[in-house]
Amino acid sequence: MPVARRLRPRSATLKACLAKHEQQAQDGDLQAVWKRFRASPCGQSWFAKLETSYGRRCMYCDHAPGRTIDHCKAKSKDSASMFRWSNWRVSCDGCNRLKNSRSLPDPVRGDPRDFILFDVSTGSPGVNPAIPSSNKGRKRRAEVAVRILDHQTDAQASAGESPPVSEPMSHRERVLAG
Ligand SMILES: [Zn+2]
Repeated sequence: MPVARRLRPRSATLKACLAKHEQQAQDGDLQAVWKRFRASPCGQSWFAKLETSYGRRCMYCDHAPGRTIDHCKAKSKDSASMFRWSNWRVSCDGCNRLKNSRSLPDPVRGDPRDFILFDVSTGSPGVNPAIPSSNKGRKRRAEVAVRILDHQTDAQASAGESPPVSEPMSHRERVLAG
């Protein structure tokens, strides 16, 4: 199920904050402008609004607390959408960092399960085996997503949240094997 789209909260003050930073981004270093925005009180308010709308967990992996704003369309590829609410997703550090300028199946615009399935016993992501082999584009996107989300699982394992090791073969391994 896709996540229900939430409309941008109405607030003249916060809107002005976006406009100000958007202006700075016109001829400034995108990364620096974004960092300044996130550190500003209004940037923090925007993140709180995003959490209120979409929850505190990472919208991509659903495993870790979402502490960052990920740009669905990466800043480097679409700087015009950098300060657009509709382009923001609550994301954990791992997914955001590993995704970088790539794209992950968007949980708001579609159903990520069309690409990836998580094994309920191990928590490992795997390519949805129902993707027909003729659909090479979808398969490739799913494989990239699994690699990004799998790093996340590794990070959790090293943080002591490892899944049971008794599982003979994870869903992902089965998918890769077959
Ligand atoms: Zn995540």
